[in-house]
Amino acid sequence: MPSVLATLSYHKIGKHRPDGWSTWNYTGTDEFSAQLEWFQQRGWEFLSAPEFLSALNGQGSLPGKGVLITFDDAYESLLENALPVLNRFSAPGVVFVPTQFVGNTNLFDHGIEPLERIAGWNTLAALEEGGVTVESHGCSHRGFSSLSPLEIQQELEFSKEAIRKNLGKDSRMFAFPYGDFGADRVEVESAIRGAGYAVAFLYGGSTFELGQKPAPLFLPRLAMGPGVNLDEMLLEMPCV
Ligand SMILES: [Zn+2]
Repeated sequence: MPSVLATLSYHKIGKHRPDGWSTWNYTGTDEFSAQLEWFQQRGWEFLSAPEFLSALNGQGSLPGKGVLITFDDAYESLLENALPVLNRFSAPGVVFVPTQFVGNTNLFDHGIEPLERIAGWNTLAALEEGGVTVESHGCSHRGFSSLSPLEIQQELEFSKEAIRKNLGKDSRMFAFPYGDFGADRVEVESAIRGAGYAVAFLYGGSTFELGQKPAPLFLPRLAMGPGVNLDEMLLEMPCV
């Protein structure tokens, strides 16, 4: 059996605020739990960020099927809604934070998604303590297509520096806001490596097989939300 990694990409777990509205980016806690159970029952191993990076680079013992659970935008509600479910499955996770919005709201989604509180540094530290590794989602949550090479460099470096300053840790993973890596993939790859990231995640796509040398820098993620059909997503989509 090939060694396969899957990365799940969630946004919000639980219900929307009373004054907000629901979108596909809200996954209820029961459904979130059922989705994790789907993976557990089919022999997928839940990986931490370091285990994922080791597996990607051919170090350590490779799982037959490993899955990384990620959350974009670092909503405050993850602590109350996602962490207890993760703990029940002994599953680690990764949260991608847009550092300019820490302790604020998702103003970058104005008019598209309801405003929700984004975690402050204390909550992010609590998530990290609970096994959800804090990684970079840039500073301003702008797609790279709209940025100059200098702005891209700043998004990569300043967000990493903010995480280092406030949590005392080195961020090795980056998730592109909107999955948008910009127009010049080669240049962006160079900027990501130069800033010291080991991987950069897209939004959407399927699983990928381990063993490619060198390991790919840009990785697909399964877009997760209510009603996804995991049987179809994982059986019908080819590995990339
Ligand atoms: Zn985002």
